[in-house]
Amino acid sequence: MGTHQVYVMPCADYGQTEAALRNTLERMGGMERFVKPGERILLKVNLLRPAPPESAVCTHPAVAAAVAALVREAGGTPVIADSPGGALQKESVLRHLYEKTGMARAAAQSGAELSFDTSARLVSLPRGRALRQAEVIAPAAEADGVFDLCKMKTHVLMGMTGAVKNSFGIIPGLSKVGFHGSHPDRQDFADVVLDLTEFLAPRLSIMDGVLAMEGEGPGASGTPRRVGLLLASESPLALDAAAAELMGLPRASNPLLLAAQRRGLTPNRAEDVELVGGSWDRLRIPDYRFPANVRRDLMEFLGPLAGPAKGLCKALLSQTPRIAPERCVGCGICRKACPGRAITLEGGRARIHPGSCIRCYCCHELCPQKAVALKRGLLGRLLN
Ligand code: SF4
Ligand code: SF4
Repeated sequence: MGTHQVYVMPCADYGQTEAALRNTLERMGGMERFVKPGERILLKVNLLRPAPPESAVCTHPAVAAAVAALVREAGGTPVIADSPGGALQKESVLRHLYEKTGMARAAAQSGAELSFDTSARLVSLPRGRALRQAEVIAPAAEADGVFDLCKMKTHVLMGMTGAVKNSFGIIPGLSKVGFHGSHPDRQDFADVVLDLTEFLAPRLSIMDGVLAMEGEGPGASGTPRRVGLLLASESPLALDAAAAELMGLPRASNPLLLAAQRRGLTPNRAEDVELVGGSWDRLRIPDYRFPANVRRDLMEFLGPLAGPAKGLCKALLSQTPRIAPERCVGCGICRKACPGRAITLEGGRARIHPGSCIRCYCCHELCPQKAVALKRGLLGRLLN
């Protein structure tokens, strides 16, 4: 997956994005290295849900606009696309998504195309471990090249979401639900995501960490955190390894990098990454807050355990979703996104049936009202 260098760009606010990226792309050999004239380049942004830029849920439009301008200067056509979670892949859904996230403005400013293609293509994944083929959104199958424009965020299920996890967005709309259902274990799910990343093979990965997200990410329950960094690499794995190190995410809570390690894909550790433009010590982000189920001391405690003992401890640690009825408006987004069919709407409020819940946390991720809380497991409560 490319070279192992990660370029770090201090960027105090989004007004500096284009200058910072232009400077870094020059140091990386110029945009001409990544785009040939006439090519259509998919800018795979993270548009999890129709949330405004200041919520830090989605890639900031300033990042998309800056990259699009550079692609156009190199003679390429930038195409902005993603498929949000928990919604049908429909033109009206995409139009609302682009408006709310600021991508419509970014496209108008930079001359990028917004994709309204709602069709899917069946593609083969010859190197896949979990998937041999998959239906993906058409712009992902048809682009000449892909740029992965991800967001620095925490993720209740996967520890963090960065360049690798961003590739899951090429699964169309509600089809994502099926993958959570068929791969409920997070290590298996990590293999699905890694297969999709290998298929996309982004030429360039850029992480928006100017206004990042900490706490109970990746959706509305997360907390925006001003970090003031942009990161860029030819390798999505290198980018995630560097970001995880800067955020301080325990390795045992990073199933995507562990999946890469199992496959022998490198780099999967910060030690194998060369940071360009800053030092680890200077750039480490102090006291980055992770979801409550990510605790360094617990991970170290679990590390030496094996087999059934480890499984039991994990089960006792895992969190259970609960509806906060006073916040729930009965929109039904969580019900549509639930792979376990564990949610019903009763009296205008969502209700979770724990026996059917596979603890994928899609409901927590997608609820716009922060109405899905996560209750710590018994062991987590005792240790706290
Ligand atoms: S829990 Fe959230 S997503 Fe589910 S119905 Fe209530 S408000 Fe909508
Ligand atoms: S209730 Fe929530 S966590 Fe449980 S299976 Fe449904 S979406 Fe996943």
